[in-house]
Amino acid sequence: MTDPVVIIGTGLAGYNLAREFRKLDGETPLLLITADDGRSYSKPMLSTGFAKNKDADGLCMAEPGAMAEQLKAEVRTHTRISGIDPGHKRLWIGEEQVRYRDLVLAWGAETVRVPLEGDAADLVFPINDLEDYARFRAAAAGKRRVLILGAGLIGCEFANDMSLGGFEVELVAPCEQVMPTLLHPATAAAVQAGLEGLGVRFHLGPVLNRLQRVADGLEAHLSDGSVIACDLVVSAVGLKPRTDLASAAGLRTNRGVVVDRHLCTSHANIYALGDCAEVDGINLLYVMPLMGGARALSQTLAGNPTAVSYGPMPITVKTPACPLVVSPPPLGQEGQWTVEGQGADLKVLCHDAAGQLLGYALTGTAVMEKLALNRQLPPLMA
Ligand SMILES: Cc1cc2nc3c(=O)[nH]c(=O)nc-3n(C[C@H](O)[C@H](O)[C@H](O)COP(=O)(O)OP(=O)(O)OC[C@H]3O[C@@H](n4cnc5c(N)ncnc54)[C@H](O)[C@@H]3O)c2cc1C
Repeated sequence: MTDPVVIIGTGLAGYNLAREFRKLDGETPLLLITADDGRSYSKPMLSTGFAKNKDADGLCMAEPGAMAEQLKAEVRTHTRISGIDPGHKRLWIGEEQVRYRDLVLAWGAETVRVPLEGDAADLVFPINDLEDYARFRAAAAGKRRVLILGAGLIGCEFANDMSLGGFEVELVAPCEQVMPTLLHPATAAAVQAGLEGLGVRFHLGPVLNRLQRVADGLEAHLSDGSVIACDLVVSAVGLKPRTDLASAAGLRTNRGVVVDRHLCTSHANIYALGDCAEVDGINLLYVMPLMGGARALSQTLAGNPTAVSYGPMPITVKTPACPLVVSPPPLGQEGQWTVEGQGADLKVLCHDAAGQLLGYALTGTAVMEKLALNRQLPPLMA
């Protein structure tokens, strides 16, 4: 019997690739292996669950058994691969070896953990998959005060969502503005003001040093000496593409697992897709790039080698308190920023010296201009 195409991971990258592949090839054995419970869900919905009043079961779109049937595949859940042996086209699950025809790493990114003093580190919740979300929902039942660590896109989305869900939200981050790597200061101020309008309290500058249990909840001690009373802490300080197993197997890694435009790693027959992949020097932790990648890679796996290309990739940030769409300039390209509008309605554009639009950030009513602006943007990767 032919060795299977093996996909590691059943997130949006793994399942979408399997779906695309099955449109082209109904016969080749397909095996998906995942460390989690294998339920199919849309990860972006994790930061809208409270506003939509959906728990983890409510966000689940299909059980792994149904996915296996739909994809004519075997789905092995709660199974963590522990090693790859590219020379012999096999991987390891502890002592067990599994052979592959082609291997796709779609194993995502892991949450960065901050070192903490105090006796309440177990009450810091990262939320990066459905199981994390279920754990947080269970711990949050009956609680009212949430402290969020991190003012990036995900921290701001959780701040908005949990406020809408009835929590009192405070947010702490060691930066001067929200989404510092993504937003011009004017747009960041508009987003912060929108969230403050919901009641979110920001502590920008300090970090959380110590988390302590007290009689009526927790005390969070910040590096500037202030103390915040809360019941739970959500960590949204960043994500790091998983690369350890790839490096150990001798594959090239950098920020992510290094792949070319065919999503092929430094070893033939091993590919990477989604949050873990650094495609031609670009590691994007968003849905749009992985969808394009899944379509291209499915063709390659079906015998029709296809390179991936990225058009403009605007990001709609789920902060309804201040609607926001942002399209950062392509990596390495710098330009001049201009700010139009005022208050919550801003159009912030970045042009190069020749007048070419490189990127934008739109807030409030200005988000309606995104389609017109998208047509003027250069591709992220031609
Ligand atoms: C709260 C939140 C909101 C977001 N909102 C948006 C948004 O609005 N728009 C947008 O474009 N993007 C958004 N993103 C990002 C987007 O969701 C991700 O880019 C995307 O879901 C990543 O999918 P993935 O399949 O690459 O990784 P993951 O979904 O992380 O899947 C990784 C899989 O690999 C498995 N795995 C890991 N290690 C092993 C191992 N050793 N052995 C076996 N299996 C393993 C895991 O169990 C899992 O099944 C958001 C992310 C978060 C956290």
